[in-house]
Amino acid sequence: MRPLSFDAITIDSVNSPAAVENNSSLAVLRLDKIHPAVSGNKIFKLHYYLQEALATKKGILTFGGAYSNHIIATATACQQNNIKAVGIIRGERPAQLSHTLQQAEKLGMQLLFSSREDYRQQKIPAGIDPNDYVVIPEGGYGITGAEGAADISHYIPAGRFTHLLCAVGTGTTLAGLLNSTNVAVTGISVLKGNMGLETMTRSLLADKNKAATILHDYHFGGYAKHTGELIGFMNEFYKRSSIPSDFVYTGKLFYAVEDLLKKDFFPPGSSVLAIHSGGLQGNLSLDKGTLIF
Ligand SMILES: *Cc1c(COP(=O)(O)O)cnc(C)c1O
Repeated sequence: MRPLSFDAITIDSVNSPAAVENNSSLAVLRLDKIHPAVSGNKIFKLHYYLQEALATKKGILTFGGAYSNHIIATATACQQNNIKAVGIIRGERPAQLSHTLQQAEKLGMQLLFSSREDYRQQKIPAGIDPNDYVVIPEGGYGITGAEGAADISHYIPAGRFTHLLCAVGTGTTLAGLLNSTNVAVTGISVLKGNMGLETMTRSLLADKNKAATILHDYHFGGYAKHTGELIGFMNEFYKRSSIPSDFVYTGKLFYAVEDLLKKDFFPPGSSVLAIHSGGLQGNLSLDKGTLIF
């Protein structure tokens, strides 16, 4: 297992004709460089849950789907910290486990499969004593997760950027950024019509008067759905910037950022920073050759 390297995080400027046209600049915070499999924002969101597990000598139990970046990040972090990890996985155990679940098992995570109904209620299976575990909701959602995500702002030099953008799944990362910076933050939802996200995000905000701006027009068909246009964009963006993206989160984020630049969403003279939240392991579920990176 490769160690996590927070020193590898950089801010890369992007050759973006859309930004130039708008008299603005575009850069990316490369949290994906921490580790090839462990997605950047997930490791931040886990931080204080891990501290709690270490302090109380408990295991960690959490929930996720077959391709979940959160499951792989939890399995990795628990392995590195010698914490017992249990993953409750949505649906029946398939004959062939996904890459993500195979990897999680290899890292020592115990996988327990849960019917869709039990999963929806985030039920803890019989035989597991919840008192033995720090229980993390699906995707690392929650106040503790937002506290960890707030630490992302340590990698963003104060005063250098006018606008931050991040991909939104549960809103935890967005809330963490809003709690820790005074810059305008815009979230790009990767889900179709999940209008509950604003409320979910707001409930994690320290200052309830802050606005959580979430845009809902860049889902490309819904969660983990993709189109030829999205894949084409991700390849073209890579050629221009040498920045790889994933089709579930960051591909949609970068597409959105450049589309917003084209539409003059940001005033001229803006310095825009998009947060690369990792997730590249998710691309393993695409056919070989789909992406050029
Ligand atoms: C989970 C995830 C997100 C979404 O983060 P939330 O805090 O749940 O909104 C964004 N990007 C990547 C790569 C992720 O894995």
